[in-house]
Amino acid sequence: MTGFDTRAIHAGQDPDPATGAVIPPLHLTTTYKQDGVGGLRGGYEYSRSGNPTRDTLQTALASLEQGTRAMTFASGLAAEDVLLRTVCRPGDRIVLGGDAYGGTYRLISKVQEPWGVGHLPVDLNDLDAVREAVAPETTRVLWCETPSNPLLNVSDIAVLAEIAHAAGTLLVVDNTFASPYLQQPLTLGADVVVHSTTKYLGGHSDVVGGALVVADAELGERLAYLQNAAGAVNGPFDAWLLLRSLKTLGVRMDRHSANAGRIAEWLLEHPAVGDVLYPGLPQHRNHEIAAKQMSGFGGMVSFRLRAGEEAALRVCERAQLFTLAESLGGVESLIEHPHRMTHASAAGSPLEVPADLVRLSVGIEDVDDLLADLDQALG
Ligand SMILES: *Cc1c(COP(=O)(O)O)cnc(C)c1O
Repeated sequence: MTGFDTRAIHAGQDPDPATGAVIPPLHLTTTYKQDGVGGLRGGYEYSRSGNPTRDTLQTALASLEQGTRAMTFASGLAAEDVLLRTVCRPGDRIVLGGDAYGGTYRLISKVQEPWGVGHLPVDLNDLDAVREAVAPETTRVLWCETPSNPLLNVSDIAVLAEIAHAAGTLLVVDNTFASPYLQQPLTLGADVVVHSTTKYLGGHSDVVGGALVVADAELGERLAYLQNAAGAVNGPFDAWLLLRSLKTLGVRMDRHSANAGRIAEWLLEHPAVGDVLYPGLPQHRNHEIAAKQMSGFGGMVSFRLRAGEEAALRVCERAQLFTLAESLGGVESLIEHPHRMTHASAAGSPLEVPADLVRLSVGIEDVDDLLADLDQALG
């Protein structure tokens, strides 16, 4: 197999056979001419069921995650919805990390629950608790997000895969924060990889999307069935933008990781800052696991303000080069207050996040400019 960056640029992306165009064409079409009834060219009949631009993206993503099949969707949550409805039935149960993305928790606790699918949050670092939680036969899914949002906890994917498989449960890994450049969960035993491609895979804050990637062909077939039957596919232009983004994923992630590492170290020294949460710091509680399963530590850094919530809000409002906004993973740096913004839907739940926490999505600007902005924002 060729290297990651080579696959990001070339997998599924041969020059167009009709014209030699180096970049795969953008197929903005809903339907396809048939050569006689049922005479499909390349299997294409209707763009919800299949579109060449989306297929190219799916081929490239499957290759980057070292899976056999990828399916892309209109958003990360649309991908998660198809996954959960494919594998869970009434009476089943989902065990999920206690700090999963707020939208994932909402989908599971508010949308799945009324259809009879239960859930149980656990601390994924407490392996005995995980073993106990997945033991009942009704546990269909063990859901792990690593690194997690916004607390940057890291879980041992290989160990969780063993625990899940011993109980006959699927291990799902939300790989949004790491991207396949830094971590490939299927190679560590995960059954399904989930992405919000809105984040690092898109990388330019201009396209919302999601993906599922699997190793098992039969599971891939079932997921692809609901992708078409429920229909929350991404459009061809969104797929084309993502293909453009994938080509630079490796160089972007290297710079995100380098900038975030510098910023995390700088924050450690700042008197107004309490805990700094970044898996690349040797003092991070899961640093060893991160170093074992990731090839870099990514661009997300969270930190707590010693003076509490008001101080955290003030930093978010004073920052200038860091834009105050939700989302993450773009080339530009963002700052936010998870308790009131991205994770507001987790308020009062076991997944509530501390109010003195600030989350940074560190972009690829010059790191000295980013440090100067944080310096003035922290006052
Ligand atoms: C954003 C995000 C999602 C949801 O994806 P959307 O594209 O917003 O639907 C899921 N998981 C993580 C870790 C995320 O950051």
